[in-house]
Amino acid sequence: MSAAAAVASAIRPIVICGPSGTGKSTLLKKLFTEYPDKFAFSISHTTRAPRPGEQPGVSYHFTSRESFLDLVKAEGFIEHAEFSGNLYGSSVQSVNDVTRSGKMCILDIDTQGVKLIKKNHPSLNPLYIFISPPSIASLKTRLTGRGTETESSMNSRLQAAIGELEYAKQPGSFDLVVVNDGLERAYGVLKGVIVEGKREGDELPKFEN
Ligand code: ADP
Ligand code: 5GP
Repeated sequence: MSAAAAVASAIRPIVICGPSGTGKSTLLKKLFTEYPDKFAFSISHTTRAPRPGEQPGVSYHFTSRESFLDLVKAEGFIEHAEFSGNLYGSSVQSVNDVTRSGKMCILDIDTQGVKLIKKNHPSLNPLYIFISPPSIASLKTRLTGRGTETESSMNSRLQAAIGELEYAKQPGSFDLVVVNDGLERAYGVLKGVIVEGKREGDELPKFEN
């Protein structure tokens, strides 16, 4: 069995997906603060540079392209993808570390990663949640406000967002779409589903631009 196949989870993992800047990290930070014993983050590898405030080994495992590709060769990733000129991947070890701790594993990945997990690891059977911005215009405002992007990385993230929203619109692509229009409201919906087990699929995408 390959290393990448050796990932298993008794507790259903949760995949959080959504355009860069839609508020995934902000929502997850609230969740991990409120439920430190219940959920844990699968720390991805990335070749992008750390942003101010991001801690290595907490936000991401920041790595060189060469080391990343070595881990790809060693079949150390469940999935990996190139996004906006950088490589990102969920390692077998990160997911296994969380699942062995008995906590619910949360992955924050893009739609390429979602498609790869569906195709290559159907037995993981995660709950797929898409966090949508209320509009592309508000996404741009959030990315600008975060102050982390150059003009070029902003454009490539907005371009990627259009494709990700298209995918999320396809029936069955996600178990739930949460529109992050207001942080407290969106957090309440997210928590309702993953903590309180409320019915999935209640929230429908709006996607007006
Ligand atoms: P992501 O992890 O999806 O890339 P972040 O969590 O970094 O996004 O959020 C991007 C920016 O948007 C941050 O500056 C964050 O404070 C802000 N933000 C998050 N949620 C909301 C919201 N509901 N309304 C307005 N701004 C928000
Ligand atoms: P950012 O650079 O804004 O942190 O992340 C950019 C994009 O990469 C986001 O859509 C985020 O969900 C995605 N991402 C983060 N980690 C992974 C990963 O391990 N795999 C994949 N496929 N995407 C990831």
